[in-house]
Order: sequence, then structure tokens, then C-alpha cells
Amino acid sequence: MAQDLSPDVPLHFSRFQPLYKLAHLPPTPVETLEKSYDIAREEGIRFVYIGNVPGHPGNNTYCPTCGEPIIVRRGFAVLEYHLRGGICEFCGESIPGVWWNEEPEGQPVEIPQGPADN
Ligand SMILES: [Zn+2]
Repeated sequence: MAQDLSPDVPLHFSRFQPLYKLAHLPPTPVETLEKSYDIAREEGIRFVYIGNVPGHPGNNTYCPTCGEPIIVRRGFAVLEYHLRGGICEFCGESIPGVWWNEEPEGQPVEIPQGPADN
């Protein structure tokens, strides 16, 4: 993907949660998502995410230059926002994408926890 599209195309690994008619199946192990995350990063993809695991550090966006968390999320809520005009507040790197010019307004929305991990 990094060579065919761009290393800046976001890649999400979302955890399967057993619900309704598939409630008998196990959830995706967090370790599987983390292994996929690590492989994607090693292959040069710069914006990799782990989804459906509330509070996991893989929910966040990290600056590919300085490694600082520039958007800290919990579910769909933004808890911290360190971009100004698409520029990393920590090191000045330009981050590809469409961004708010300043911190989004309003209170973050708490996302209910899913079933227990693993
Ligand atoms: Zn940075």
C-alpha cells in the first residue's frame, strides 16, 4: 500500500466485537491488531490506527516526524488536538489531511465500553 498509493493514506484495523447473531464468536484479540499495526508501520505507512478498542494508544494520530501524539482520541471523541493549520505544534511538520485550524469546540462524547478485552 505504501508504494501503490501513498504512505500518507490512513490505514485502520478495527476490532471485531461479537454482537447479535455473531455473539458466539470471539472478539479480535488486541494482540492481532497490534501486530498488524506494527507491520504496517514497519512497511512505511505513516498513519495507522487501531479501532474499536477504547483508550488504546492506536486510536491516536502521531506526528510521523517527532512521534508526539497530535490528536488524542477516545472512540470518536477528540481529547487533545495539537495541530494549528495542519502543522504539528511540537515540531512544525506539515501533516497531510483536512484539519480544524484550532482545537475543536464542545465537550468530548464518552463512548461506552464494549465487552471485556480478550
Ligand atoms: Zn511533530
